[in-house]
Amino acid sequence: MNPSLSIEEQVLLERALQAARDTRFLAVEAGIRHDAARLFASAFGNETAFLVADQRTYAAAGRDVQESFRRAGIACAEPFLFGPEVYAEHSFVEALQSALAANRAIPVAIGSGTINDLTKLAAHRLGRPYMVAATAASMDGYTAYGASITYRGSKQTFDCPAPRAVLADLEVIARAPAEMNAAGYADLLAKGVAGADWILADAAGAEAIHPAVWTTVQSFLPAWIDRPGGIVRAESACLQRLIVGLMMSGFAMQAARSSRPASGADHQFSHLWDMQHHTHNGAAPSHGFKVGIGTLASLALYEALLRRDLASLDIDAAVAAWSSWEQVEARITLLLGSGELAEKAKEETRAKYPTPDVLYAQLQRLRDGWPALRERLQQHLFPFRNARALLREAGCPHQPEQIGISRQRLRHSYEQAYYIRRRFTVLDFAMRLGVFDATLDELFGPAGAWAKEGGQS
Ligand SMILES: [Zn+2]
Repeated sequence: MNPSLSIEEQVLLERALQAARDTRFLAVEAGIRHDAARLFASAFGNETAFLVADQRTYAAAGRDVQESFRRAGIACAEPFLFGPEVYAEHSFVEALQSALAANRAIPVAIGSGTINDLTKLAAHRLGRPYMVAATAASMDGYTAYGASITYRGSKQTFDCPAPRAVLADLEVIARAPAEMNAAGYADLLAKGVAGADWILADAAGAEAIHPAVWTTVQSFLPAWIDRPGGIVRAESACLQRLIVGLMMSGFAMQAARSSRPASGADHQFSHLWDMQHHTHNGAAPSHGFKVGIGTLASLALYEALLRRDLASLDIDAAVAAWSSWEQVEARITLLLGSGELAEKAKEETRAKYPTPDVLYAQLQRLRDGWPALRERLQQHLFPFRNARALLREAGCPHQPEQIGISRQRLRHSYEQAYYIRRRFTVLDFAMRLGVFDATLDELFGPAGAWAKEGGQS
């Protein structure tokens, strides 16, 4: 199915597909859109297909997919085409749902993040499986469990199964806007931090690693990200590895029923800026571009923490200095105001707020395991400078200002990002050690990674 992948990659892919709960069929190949009918028939038998696209994605792949159904004699309802104003908002789910309710057909989403998420949720609400034909390697959500949809003004993740069948035509992906594939590259690069955060959570006793799932995402990651220039030039082999890496991340999330395998502190920066409705030049930067900056922010923090020697950590002093819950609430109010975002942050932080005994135990595990843990993290993570160079070469923003985030705002974002999710990450590590502010002083100081506005690139 994937002739240019190594045997080991194909084996891993096959295993990941078997472990995935919802997705049963994956086809990644140049020209595969012309064969969409065969994949559809394998996954759904004699059902009728119902194409969901917008004008652009219909032209990019939808027309050829429809033609393949016609040739194969598979019944196809009149395609549902969204207008150019479509975005991942709940009213568009409702519109699609009522169109789908008029028949019993199987939806076939033709598009990327938005159309996939709208179709995923609408199909689930009608109790139907669905198929997706990807039109860009822009994020890992194709095969992820759940849909990210704005509802009543705030972005939410709705529980719903991933597609049963996924098709990615490398010819179509190669013609996608360059910044979309670049965004997918940044979303994939972030998995390095996501994996490190899981190592850390496991070491602290906060969340055990699921080895098979961890391996699905991490074992080929260095190979998947090592040719960023090939993404810009739309080289087929590079795009194939990019899309396979993104799909595998989705399978890992399906297997874990959690985004943990593919999302750590890197994504929390992005979620924070989403929750703050951040825009730059009149539009929200893409998910991948925000995650790319979140990845750099996380790597910078890791590097500063890995320079420390935890052997001399005074655990009693760290526990004594730990903020009371009242102090934490006051801090959240100061940093995030008193609206919905602050309420959400309190709920999330409460869920991970340790009693003194738990904090003591976590710090003891981290300190005692430090030499081995530090070595494992150093081997696993790529240096901040390398990651920044990779992002630049892939055509991604590699300075926060490029997505409209000033140094000062980035500094606030570190602490805000800590509060908005219950997940244990490098942010929790710094907070529990009692070195959060001191480490940020280093990062934003004259010799730090975030030394000055528009610093060296
Ligand atoms: Zn992502």
